[in-house]
Formats: sequence, structure tokens, C-alpha cells
Amino acid sequence: MRLVLLGAPGSGKGTQAKLLVDKYGIPQISTGDLLRAAVAAKTELGLQVKAVMDSGDLVSDDLVLGLLKERLAQADTKDGFILDGFPRNLAQAEALTPLLDELGQPADLALLINVDEDEILQRILARAKVEGRSDDNEDVVRKRMGIYREQTKPVAAFYAARGELKSVDGIGSIESIFQRVTDQIES
Ligand code: AMP
Repeated sequence: MRLVLLGAPGSGKGTQAKLLVDKYGIPQISTGDLLRAAVAAKTELGLQVKAVMDSGDLVSDDLVLGLLKERLAQADTKDGFILDGFPRNLAQAEALTPLLDELGQPADLALLINVDEDEILQRILARAKVEGRSDDNEDVVRKRMGIYREQTKPVAAFYAARGELKSVDGIGSIESIFQRVTDQIES
């Protein structure tokens, strides 16, 4: 199964992706995690992107696409994968299709986890307090929400227009949302 998981920052997308990893035995590929790993490793690329990530902006498409290509080339993706945090804008969505086709691994489905913005804001501000992520202060959270609204939301419409989008209500317990997610995947 090759799944593109869509949803706002704080929608629970990452949590659901981890549960999907356990259930289906395929890796979660999070471009945010790939970028954070580059930052932690203090690679030249990591140093470049840290400031961008901390400001809440998107890292350049070319750079993220390069990291993603490298990750998709690893052997553990042969039975599928869950893409989490990519595509973040229409240009990335348009680049993803030929990339996956080239690998002989077209996406089966895009799945949107739907949560309204007020709820999201409360959730990420709470997460900022617990995890201390440097990109989770209130101004940055609002900026990331704005970017989501303007750039990432259209990605759901892109997949909907191709008849490849399903969505689930992202409000409720982790378990009940996971049930909705797997119902959609298996329907
Ligand atoms: P995330 O962990 O998915 O919330 O991503 C954290 C940050 O990494 C984002 O705010 C962006 O700065 C950057 N990022 C993650 N994925 C992408 C992407 N697909 N395109 C551009 N920037 C990204």
C-alpha cells in the first residue's frame, strides 16, 4: 500500500501514520523528520534549513524532493510506504506523480484527516509546551496554519479532482480515528 497522508500540522497525521506502520508493516516517510535529522546531523543542508523551519516557512521544493527521492530509493519501501508531510504545495504534488511512476510505485490513495483550524491551534500550542519544538511557538504556529491554508489545502483538491482522495473526521480518540482511517483504506 502506498498512501499519501494529508492534514494540517497538528491534525494527528503523524500519530495515525505510526499506527499504520504497526498495522501494515510499511515505513512512514515524514519529510519533517528527514529535515530534522539533517538539522540534528549538522550537515550543510541541515544548517541551511534550520532557520527556514524555525520560522515556519516551507523548505524549498527541490531540497525536499531530493531528500524524498533518496529515502524512497531505500529497500524498505518496496512493499509500500506512508508519506507524511509531503506534498505540502501544488508544485510538490505535481512532482510526486512522475517520481512515483518512475519508481514503479504510484500512490494508491490520498487520505485527508480533517480537523478545523481552532482545534488545531489549541492542539499545537499544547504540544509546544510539552515537546518544546522550536517551531511551535504561537506566531510560528499561526504562520504554519496560514501556509497550510494557502498552499497545502489545495493539495487535497488536487487529489480529489483525480478521484484519488478520501477523508476522515479527525476529531475523537486516537483509536476511533484510526478505525475510520483503516475503514477508508480498506473500503
Ligand atoms: P512537519 O514535521 O511535517 O510539521 O514539518 C516541519 C517543518 O519542516 C515544516 O514547517 C517545514 O518547514 C518543513 N517541511 C516538512 N515537510 C516539508 C515539505 N514537504 N516541503 C517543505 N517544507 C517541509
